[in-house]
Amino acid sequence: MRRASIGLILATSLALAQSTHVVQPGETLYRIAQQYGTTVERLEALNNLSNPNQLRVGQTLRLSGQPPTPPVNRRTDLPTPIEALEWPRQTLQGNVAVLRFSATQAVPGQVRFLGSTYPIQQNRVLLPIPALQAPGIYPVAVELEGQEIRLEIQVVAGSFGRFILQLPPDRAALLVPNTLRAERAKVVGSCDWNRPQQWSGNWKKPVNSNRITDPFGTRRSYDQGATYSFHEGIDYGVPVGTPVRAPADGVVGLAQALFVRGNGVTIDHGDGVCSGFWHLSKILVKPGQRVKAGDLIGLSGNTGLSNGPHSHFEIRIRGTPTNPALWYYAAP
Ligand SMILES: [Zn+2]
Repeated sequence: MRRASIGLILATSLALAQSTHVVQPGETLYRIAQQYGTTVERLEALNNLSNPNQLRVGQTLRLSGQPPTPPVNRRTDLPTPIEALEWPRQTLQGNVAVLRFSATQAVPGQVRFLGSTYPIQQNRVLLPIPALQAPGIYPVAVELEGQEIRLEIQVVAGSFGRFILQLPPDRAALLVPNTLRAERAKVVGSCDWNRPQQWSGNWKKPVNSNRITDPFGTRRSYDQGATYSFHEGIDYGVPVGTPVRAPADGVVGLAQALFVRGNGVTIDHGDGVCSGFWHLSKILVKPGQRVKAGDLIGLSGNTGLSNGPHSHFEIRIRGTPTNPALWYYAAP
């Protein structure tokens, strides 16, 4: 009797071991991903993690299935032709909150959120949540023709890591506020926010690597002082010369050498979504060129403000960087 129940417990835990994993002391998400033949980004998406370095011992991780969909609110008391409006009740810092209209025709209007205005495109609005946005409940104003609807979205902390960058004086000299601002404006301005959506379905990883050397959202300090920026993308630790491929269909925005970002490429994917690839050793595309998911766009490198060979990949929505990991498994 006793033997039988122990056998049953063993069988049950073996079955569970295939769908979940309990974090042990000293484990990293990278090691767990390797153990189960999956990826860090997939574990992030499945478990709603924003920082793969902040695991708790004893935490149960899901290893398979579909990424959880956030609880949504729904309103149906809206002017025709709108049948319903759905929006997430809650979202993490650095994520994308998607508002969706059900309607028989295109809904004209815009949405105001956190001081910016977002158009309704294809009966949907992509709201980027800044990685440094303080947790709290924020108003969303949906401006339809002749009617304003007020909603709320709760932003939850992403518990990101911290990193103090030690730079040699010649590289630190690049961090002049005006230089940073001008370069950022060039990157953000390289995409046409009115372009219609070019991608379909989930995105591909731009480099063939599971080795994330710096995840999205890490708080950064260059001066040993107060944090004043964060990591705007994912860094993959790959040797110089590794192929970098378009993660989704789009049109090349910028393809040129930059001070801080080194040799850079941006791809305009439409609907205000723009990807960026920095520190390349070689650029293999030209501005205006159409690319398909998987097309070679450059080779990874160590150019610009970089402290070792790696490939940086970021996704901006109307200029605001968001966590790229989600786009591999749950692209809007
Ligand atoms: Zn980076």
